[in-house]
Amino acid sequence: MENCLFCKIIAGDIPSTKVYEDEKVYAFRDINPQAPTHILVIPKKHVSSLAMIDEMEDTDLAACLRAVRLIAQQEGLKNGYRVVSNCGPDACQSVPHLHFHILGGTQLADQMA
Ligand code: 5GP
Ligand code: ZN
Repeated sequence: MENCLFCKIIAGDIPSTKVYEDEKVYAFRDINPQAPTHILVIPKKHVSSLAMIDEMEDTDLAACLRAVRLIAQQEGLKNGYRVVSNCGPDACQSVPHLHFHILGGTQLADQMA
């Protein structure tokens, strides 16, 4: 997708710190981390948000969630972690390419919003 920041990151046109990649998924460190571990997991095929997953193959969606578990293990998040996907303006989604935040490495806030 032209002019999509995360599509440009997948293409390597914008640099990122990669933590995981497979045929369907790319994952990299968030540029503005909100926890000691803050990683973004994204499908390689552009979909704008969870609201649009009917446009997506189930295998691509499942691959993202399986990657979350693998990355959490790889990052040593033995005591737990949080997975967040902001969807639309009320959730302050700022990049319109589906992404799952993995947040961990500390005791996270009890309140989620
Ligand atoms: P959202 O607000 O859409 O849920 O999350 C977008 C995330 O992308 C934010 O946490 C923001 O820090 C991160 N982000 C925005 N631009 C870049 C970038 O160029 N590189 C990386 N690594 N992260 C980015
Ligand atoms: Zn995109």
